[in-house]
Amino acid sequence: MDYQRVEGDREFVARLEHGRDWREQIEAFADEEDIDAAFYIGLGAVQDVTIYFYDQEVQEYYPVEFDEPFEVTSCLGNISHLDGERFAHTHVTLSREDGSMVGGHLDSATTFAGELYVREFDTQLERAHDDVTDLDLWPL
Ligand code: ZN
Repeated sequence: MDYQRVEGDREFVARLEHGRDWREQIEAFADEEDIDAAFYIGLGAVQDVTIYFYDQEVQEYYPVEFDEPFEVTSCLGNISHLDGERFAHTHVTLSREDGSMVGGHLDSATTFAGELYVREFDTQLERAHDDVTDLDLWPL
């Protein structure tokens, strides 16, 4: 396991805007606040969701689309740089009216409502290609 010690004391709470993409508004917020590294948690409700499933054998992401409303029962993500831009790596667990769940790596979702807690770290994390997984990971 590779790791580095981080420090930082900026914390934020945020309310996501209705009708805008969940992840894009977090990236816009990170640009506005110059956040180069952070973890965040969130909850709320979304619709028109695209989850990316990573096939570990083929090493490709496959989009899975859901055109229905969900509760965001749990959202966990981090902010770092990917290809020179801020990227909000985001995983969600979503629930339907009947309580059934879907989840995974979130590509896009239209926000109905959302609340976040963000914790910034005073470091810069730039994702780099990892040959073993073919993913863009943190070179710590
Ligand atoms: Zn992911």
